[in-house]
Amino acid sequence: MHHAYRFRLKPTAKQRELLDYHRDTCRQLYNHALREFNKIPESDGTLNQRVRQVRDQLTDLKDWWDELNDLYSTVAQAAVMRIEDSIKALSELKEKGYNVGSLNWKAPRDFRSFTYVQSGFEFDKKNGQTVLSLSKLADIPIECHRDIPDGETIKEVTLKKEPTGEWYASFAVDDKEEPSKPSLAEIDADEMVGIDVGILKYAHDTDGTAVGSLDLADERDRLEREQRKLSRKEHGSNNWEKQRRRVAECHQQIKRKRRDFLHKLSNYYAREYNLVAVEDLDVKGILESPGNSRNTASAAWDTFTDLLEYKCKREGTHFVAVDPEDTTKECASCGVKTDKPLWVREHSCPACRFEADRDANAAWNVLSRGLTDIGVAHSELTPVETALPTGTAVVPAKRVVEAGSPCLKESPTAASRQG
Ligand SMILES: [Zn+2]
Repeated sequence: MHHAYRFRLKPTAKQRELLDYHRDTCRQLYNHALREFNKIPESDGTLNQRVRQVRDQLTDLKDWWDELNDLYSTVAQAAVMRIEDSIKALSELKEKGYNVGSLNWKAPRDFRSFTYVQSGFEFDKKNGQTVLSLSKLADIPIECHRDIPDGETIKEVTLKKEPTGEWYASFAVDDKEEPSKPSLAEIDADEMVGIDVGILKYAHDTDGTAVGSLDLADERDRLEREQRKLSRKEHGSNNWEKQRRRVAECHQQIKRKRRDFLHKLSNYYAREYNLVAVEDLDVKGILESPGNSRNTASAAWDTFTDLLEYKCKREGTHFVAVDPEDTTKECASCGVKTDKPLWVREHSCPACRFEADRDANAAWNVLSRGLTDIGVAHSELTPVETALPTGTAVVPAKRVVEAGSPCLKESPTAASRQG
């Protein structure tokens, strides 16, 4: 298992030029390598073997192509090996039924990054500023908003120029050994949580915590304004280009804000509990999207599940994704199904009289399905005893972003574990 940390670079004007020079040299090398690759018959070996064949020509290439000597060795190798990834990505698209042609050469705007593998990079301090020291390139100031924990080894660093013109470095690391999870038999009822994820409220769990959806109205307004300005500029002009960057910045701001919220919310659940059950949101997205369209909410649900699953692994927390079908209709107490349009916010069972908030009822179903799925008996977990009255106060998403948790008061265990 591995993951990546992404930090913003603060290159000087001179360093920007250098970064662009390395990026473009990699691009030209990639395009050249692609031509060479296409000359090799498929019968010559596997995809990987054929790409390696091209990579092995690098030493000879450097004899006449001086600029290649300006690149760090693994950077040049990685640029060639990228052909393998591109071809794999292309065939995945083909399998999904997209109409794609063969691999094309890349224009400057399509080739945004280059990668140092294993070596050629290190962190350093210069005049109190952390710099990323890149062999054959420069010592570039970097904004490290958090540390890469000890014990994680950086496998590679990718330098990427975003459409906004900003440069980022992302560090792919191998994780420490995963912590072991507590045995299922030893987990108490209050260490488990079921989460119902929705559109009106982002999340509602079996502990009665409800979190509102993220309010992005201001960001969307700004995006719309900047887009309108862009449409009035002459396409391709300097002003148009400047405005295009502003629009790209707005998109990025929205993306960043949403991710930040999902990071914090998933962190909270993974740290606070020993067992987390959530709906399989991939399936839920399909069930609840009109037609086949996947809306933004369902895209964000996918991200949330991915983050939650990853963070549970990291924290040694059991994670289970359950079938989302009818979690809202079913009564968490007796199992009888009743139809409920979206505007009915309460669950009131005609069979057993159990009453709860609509989403709390769904969260209980998610938890009991989760326990069934991983084989834990849960007869003692009855929602009737623990369910909260309807209309539980909703914590605004903003609070989660600011405080890193939906709790009004941090529990001592969570505080010490965050340490
Ligand atoms: Zn019932």
